[in-house]
Amino acid sequence: MLELRDVDTYYGNIQALKGVSLRVAEGEVITLIGANGAGKSTTLMSICGIVPPRDGEILFRGQPIQDRSPDEIVALGISQVPEGRRIFPQLTVAENLDMGAFLRRDKDGIKQDLDYIYGLFPILAERRNQAGGTLSGGEQQMLAISRALMARPQLLLLDEPSLGLAPLIVKRIFEIVQRINADSNTTIFLVEQNANLALKAAHRGYVMENGRITLEDRAENLLANEAVQKAYLGL
Ligand code: ATP
Repeated sequence: MLELRDVDTYYGNIQALKGVSLRVAEGEVITLIGANGAGKSTTLMSICGIVPPRDGEILFRGQPIQDRSPDEIVALGISQVPEGRRIFPQLTVAENLDMGAFLRRDKDGIKQDLDYIYGLFPILAERRNQAGGTLSGGEQQMLAISRALMARPQLLLLDEPSLGLAPLIVKRIFEIVQRINADSNTTIFLVEQNANLALKAAHRGYVMENGRITLEDRAENLLANEAVQKAYLGL
């Protein structure tokens, strides 16, 4: 579904991605793990057109998208949940969800997706008329994921959904990510520093160090890999 071929991405003179190549198949949950500053967020921002690569190719369903604008990329079926959530704090929960559907015209489909989301996260249904900024961190993360789902993406990009959340909430968020994948076959690309939980939720994983992919394998193999255990799992 998605392929990165030798992607180089820069911030001015600083090269953040160095020849990154990876593949995501339809229906997979993939995780990209690595230390702070390894280039994980930059990888997602290159895919969604916010920080386009200087070199290399990004193919979505075989079509090059590295020169497309972020809104064109959303329209193709790729939605991102950015790090730090970035919901609209003054808008209500319901209005935040409407914003996620701004490119859609299928009223019945939108209603169906809204019902699905309120079923996944009943707390959002209870708080639908409350301003987004008044929600707890975990609820804002649920809202950010839900807003991205309202675009009915084929590929959902999640940047550090566990950041700053209590362990119980994190567990719940990861369960929901797996459920979204199972319910609608939505392909998921998960960037995480919590390597343990991310690898348990994913089918396959990539390890990134200093802007390069250094390892790729099935998630259970990475969990059992001694170097990964030492560097990322604290074992
Ligand atoms: P984190 O988990 O901290 O978000 P990361 O793996 O997502 O880390 P990136 O945020 O992609 O890493 O950063 C990769 C490299 O690019 C780092 O060296 C970082 O300092 C640099 N970088 C990121 N954003 C910018 C920016 N806006 N301007 C300049 N350099 C940046």
